Amino acid sequence: MITIANGIVLYGEELVAKNTNILIDDGKIIEISDSVKEGEIIDATGCIVCPSFLNAHTHIGDSIIADAAYGKSIEEIVKPPNGIKHLALEEASDDELKIAMKKSMGFMLQTGTSHFIDYREGGLDGVKLLKSIIAEDKIPINPIILGRDNSFFDEDPNIHQVKIAIRKLLKHCDGIAPSGFGEITDEVAEIIAIECRNKEKIASIHVAEYEKLQKDSIAISGKSEVERAINSGFNQLVHVVSPIANDLDLIAKADANIVLCPRSNAGFGNGISPLPEILGKGINPLIGTDNIMINSPNIFKELEFTLKIMRVYYKDYIAPKEILKMATSNIRYASSTINKLINKSMIKEGEEAQLFIAKNSSKDPYLSLINRTETKDITCLINRNNIIHF
Ligand SMILES: [Zn+2]
Repeated sequence: MITIANGIVLYGEELVAKNTNILIDDGKIIEISDSVKEGEIIDATGCIVCPSFLNAHTHIGDSIIADAAYGKSIEEIVKPPNGIKHLALEEASDDELKIAMKKSMGFMLQTGTSHFIDYREGGLDGVKLLKSIIAEDKIPINPIILGRDNSFFDEDPNIHQVKIAIRKLLKHCDGIAPSGFGEITDEVAEIIAIECRNKEKIASIHVAEYEKLQKDSIAISGKSEVERAINSGFNQLVHVVSPIANDLDLIAKADANIVLCPRSNAGFGNGISPLPEILGKGINPLIGTDNIMINSPNIFKELEFTLKIMRVYYKDYIAPKEILKMATSNIRYASSTINKLINKSMIKEGEEAQLFIAKNSSKDPYLSLINRTETKDITCLINRNNIIHF
């Protein structure tokens, strides 16, 4: 048994700050109260105890070329199959990839992240490679891996082959994530979404990452990328920087969630998702750090950037707690399939212990985490039975 004592605990889905103790037994939170104090004591005096983070969008493979393509256009960098990143991934040996991915996962743990949704390149082999690193090195992190296959990207795709690739991938990973509508046909998109729904897995796609993509989509199909994604049945949409017309209403009504990646959008010069409007529609977005070649997978940096850039772009002050929820409890309001599949715990009795402890540096625990927490301030991360002291 372990007691985390005297911390400011961010309790439940609403992250209510209260001074209390947490008793953990065999990886589960079994009591939260002022009076409990049993077993090994982890002193959290002067610290915040926060649910560990879910980084809802990464491409961990491009850890191998961090900062290598600075200043190039988004198409030159990430458009499959010939973008700088894809060529680098093809050239890299498995050993090079392993070292780079392992380092990024270590960094994620150090910065409070216990879960990440990776948009893995390299087909089935790419999925297996990431899984093998985590298994071999017993890395105490929870990957949610979405695969893709080159057969999706043919101009005239062989539907039979696409279906075979999806079936094989879904035996080994948690869902499928093609790049975007610029690279696949609507028929392929629909097949991916249907197969994933049938298997209760994640079907995700990048949409409305910048205005031109939305215009191109309307010119080709008469519909926005968001509309095509919702109509196809995708349950997780990434970016939504440039929603148009009733895009946000469609998302709000669908059993789908969105992931925002403001640092990536800014890094590529694509614009900033309208978070105040998104929250106003009752949508509870998740947050991700996207390409590791563009950004470090540090959720604290993403949260601080998001809080401040929204003030610049939309002249709106967003409650810091709403920003923090994007990396923690908003998963509870995600698409039903995704919430069930990921099952990320909050700090409540009966839930699994998935939390970190960080030194408090201000009068407001939410702002302390968003504005002031450096990697050195995180003293401990607990993911079920794994306890990592930093
Ligand atoms: Zn991405």
